[in-house]
This record gives sequence, C-alpha cells and structure tokens, in this order.
Amino acid sequence: MADSDAVRSRRKRLHAQGDHSACRRNCQVSRGSLKIAPLSPEAVESFDPSVSLRALAARLEAASVADPANSAVAKELRSTLMLLMPNPQASVDAELKLLMSELSRPVPRSETRDLAQ
Ligand SMILES: [Zn+2]
Repeated sequence: MADSDAVRSRRKRLHAQGDHSACRRNCQVSRGSLKIAPLSPEAVESFDPSVSLRALAARLEAASVADPANSAVAKELRSTLMLLMPNPQASVDAELKLLMSELSRPVPRSETRDLAQ
C-alpha cells in the first residue's frame, strides 16, 4: 500500500531536518552507513591486539554502565574480560618448563668435584 501524499511529504520534511524516524529502509542516513577507511600502514605496524582488547573492554564497560539492562553488551564485556584474565594454566606450564630445563641442565664440573669429596 502506497503512503499518502501527507505521509510522504512529512517523511521528506523530517528527513531533510535530520530526523530519520519516519524514513523507510532505503534511507542511507537512518541505516547509519559507516564509511570505514582502511588502517594506515603506521596503524597496522603499531597494532597491538592486547591493547585493542583492553580498549574494547573499556568501551564495553562504559556501555554496560550506561545501559546495565543490555544483556548483549554485558555478555560481550564478560567474554572480553575473560580473554584479558591471566590464564593460570599458562603460568603452571611456564613453571614446569623452567623446572624441566633446570633438571636437564648438564651438571658443571665444579659441582661434580664437590660431590666426590
Ligand atoms: Zn532519512
């Protein structure tokens, strides 16, 4: 069903004023079409995933504080924070690796002589 002239002209007027609440789907502004430029070579060079992850967590935290009922934001915040938490298994693995390398280290001559005495 086609819109009446009154509805169409109201929509056109609101759109021109920057109010896209009455716009149809084909309005590019209301869709918030975002122009994303590629990262500069310097930005690519200095890109640090852990810094980016911390920044994302901070933005999600701010969004979650502003809108505590938004479960999608809360869920994403939780999974981002989980990635930032230190992995206890990783530190155990590192300690074991260090211990194993200590144990497999050849015993220096001075120590073997001390044992012989
Ligand atoms: Zn519009």
